[in-house]
Amino acid sequence: MIGDLKKWDLVVAQENEKQQKHEQAKKESAARHAEENDKMIKQMLANDYADMRKEEIGNAFECAVCGDTFDEDVNEAYTLTGCEHYFHTDCLFDYFESQLSDGKFDLLCPDQACQKPVADFDLKQVISDP
Ligand SMILES: [Zn+2]
Ligand SMILES: [Zn+2]
Repeated sequence: MIGDLKKWDLVVAQENEKQQKHEQAKKESAARHAEENDKMIKQMLANDYADMRKEEIGNAFECAVCGDTFDEDVNEAYTLTGCEHYFHTDCLFDYFESQLSDGKFDLLCPDQACQKPVADFDLKQVISDP
């Protein structure tokens, strides 16, 4: 009888050990999965961020009046003080001039998505630019 109990204890102990190992393996694989997911999400976010940056830079270096880029020569650009959008000074000049000759004296930022009023200061700067 005592021998049987011991045998039984041994079986229970072995079962417990198996169970623990199984739990441990489950935990490890879950942790591995979580790590992989984490990596994947980080990679996805990094890609999104890179795309966003590309778009940002792409737009930032494009003149909304003529659609041309600035070819890294930002000296030919004029930045509006109201919204900090920038355009070729020549383009702004032409744009302001055509607006004024159309009788539109409330000048707006040429960026379609912006349309903030242009400050008198900017107008004078652009018009008087040599
Ligand atoms: Zn332009
Ligand atoms: Zn603007």
